Amino acid sequence: ATVAQLAEWNGTGATSDGHRVKVYGNVGSPADARAAADAGAEGVGLFRTEFCYLDASDEPSVAEQRAAYTAVLSPFRGKPVIVRTLDAGADKPLAFLSPEAEPNPALGVRGLRVAFDRPEVLDRQLEAIAGAAVDSGADVSVMAPMVATVEEAAWFAVRVRAAGIARAGVMIEIPAAALSAREILGVVDFVSVGTNDLAQYTFAADRQLGAVAQLNDPWQPGLLRLLKLIGDAAKATGKPAGVCGEAAADPRLALVLAGLGLTSLSMNAPAIRTVGASLAAATLADCEALAEAALVTSDPAAARAATRP
Ligand code: PEP
Ligand code: MG
Repeated sequence: ATVAQLAEWNGTGATSDGHRVKVYGNVGSPADARAAADAGAEGVGLFRTEFCYLDASDEPSVAEQRAAYTAVLSPFRGKPVIVRTLDAGADKPLAFLSPEAEPNPALGVRGLRVAFDRPEVLDRQLEAIAGAAVDSGADVSVMAPMVATVEEAAWFAVRVRAAGIARAGVMIEIPAAALSAREILGVVDFVSVGTNDLAQYTFAADRQLGAVAQLNDPWQPGLLRLLKLIGDAAKATGKPAGVCGEAAADPRLALVLAGLGLTSLSMNAPAIRTVGASLAAATLADCEALAEAALVTSDPAAARAATRP
């Protein structure tokens, strides 16, 4: 986006013809939340709660969690925020939750899988989140990381609703979940795509390993085709499907994502205005044309070239 376009973003995520694509912030601490609010985020699309506890040796109490989450959510009083339940394991081990040594931690008991063995930890976190919703005044939804099946999504939604939280969603980070996006949206209120993990699992390429970084490129047409399935599911069900991985922070790719039918984009604070301005400079038809052009390419360079202004 040009400087002129940047100056024009009015803080409401939308294409120039008024198609809404909400622009949210990714946060993990009170400082992140203030930065996102200052940058004009319309809400929070991903609160990584595990970031609060990377150094904790014991499970924090419900009261401690409630205070920690309230501190992060307070800048978003009256605004939509999506709190993600603990995403422990693999690249983000938590001392009080992480499984014993596993041969392949990225494929092991991580994310929501931890909760199947220890649902009481999830229930205590949900109680704390419900309390933080009251204390912060934010409009809170909750979502689970690393969901593979419709059955897992339904199991999570039941527990969220039992905790008195109005909206339950899941992340789409595993190809099987992308392939079942429509059925998953049948049992939850929204989905949010974690493109970092979705790319890792789609290309069987460790997201932390530089040697395979070219596979973990969000412009890979194979990944874009999975994203199209998710956009189609959002259109078919009328439910929201956002993107909260790094892909959402690329102002050109943001247009492709909007064109594919994704309904919100969530990113770190520095990208918020640029992405908002990029959306404001295109029509929905422009975005759809860019998405179509990218989808029929055979490699990331061609996908980028096909969408260049
Ligand atoms: C992702 O996987 O894209 C994501 C947003 O979650 P995290 O980066 O925390 O794994
Ligand atoms: Mg992830």
